[in-house]
Amino acid sequence: MNYPSDGNETIPTDFDDVVQQVSTGSLAHQKIDELLHEAHERYSDVDDGLLAHYIPILGHADPDLFAIAMSHVGGSVHEVGDCQHEFSIQSIAKMFVYALVVQEHGREVVRERIGVNNTGMPFNSVMAVELNNGHPMNPMVNAGAIATTEMIPGRTSAKKWENVRAGLSAFAGRQLTLDDDVYASESESNERNKAVGRLLKSYRRIEGDPLAAVDVYTRQCSLNVTAYDLAVMGATLADGGVNPVTGQRVVDADVCRDTLAAVATSGLYEHSGDWLFEIGIPAKSGVSGGIVAIAPGKGAIGAFSPPLDIAGNSVKAQLAIGHLSRAMGLNLFASAPEKSLLAKAGRG
Ligand code: GLU
Repeated sequence: MNYPSDGNETIPTDFDDVVQQVSTGSLAHQKIDELLHEAHERYSDVDDGLLAHYIPILGHADPDLFAIAMSHVGGSVHEVGDCQHEFSIQSIAKMFVYALVVQEHGREVVRERIGVNNTGMPFNSVMAVELNNGHPMNPMVNAGAIATTEMIPGRTSAKKWENVRAGLSAFAGRQLTLDDDVYASESESNERNKAVGRLLKSYRRIEGDPLAAVDVYTRQCSLNVTAYDLAVMGATLADGGVNPVTGQRVVDADVCRDTLAAVATSGLYEHSGDWLFEIGIPAKSGVSGGIVAIAPGKGAIGAFSPPLDIAGNSVKAQLAIGHLSRAMGLNLFASAPEKSLLAKAGRG
């Protein structure tokens, strides 16, 4: 039993002995390819949004690239557009690294060290750390993600990096490689992340060398993926931790559930609440223009287009995923009256 001590740290929980049931239904839609093409065609000409510039090399991306892929938990992957174009995974890595760390250490250890609440502040906020006495609060913002990366097993940072890469590669079902140019560009411009790392060290949220932790974090952000990879990686979280294409178990089903809950609060930066309100499925976005959205028990959509909105989320990727979520009935909060119950009540 865990009741909050001061009324607002966390919600009360008193149901550990109740068996967790799963009731997600399956993906009903037969026309995945048709809907993917429809969404791609519909939003291809949208030219809103700006390229990210704070990591210099991202400002050189081709703004016209546009890809949508969907991986079904049954193992089929559907794609339209530039689905084989590689881009750096950026913040989307946070979600998968968090899953690997929860798998390794257990949910409560990671929850105590990192937290799962939205900070209400920008993803690279130093103030969020200060205001919360050094508690990062959330694994999807940089402070929480750097502290999470440090918890990846490995005695040296080279070993930690190898484990991050191997873990994310297992989610993707192929060996992912580092984009050396993005890593170099980001390493030269990440003073703020280094400051966050040092601040976390001062609060003992990081045990080892904070700059080594930031370096592994920077490498994880610089791993190359495609929209196709994102769909498969997301579908692994939708499929109880088993990669639906390779059949390999990557993490436990409980870890997927916890990870998606953490992502739902903050996957789309300061627009995470609006995203959940409008689209209704957990999603994680990255500053290079990728978004992966997960429909538990059904599948996942990976979308990519570099121009971003004011919060740092790809404009076209949001539109495409929103369209597909509606057309396929993916919204987790949507329901329709149960006909048999209405009939019993004489209202059917
Ligand atoms: N590597 C970027 C950073 O740490 C990730 C930003 C993002 O994708 O949100 O600033």
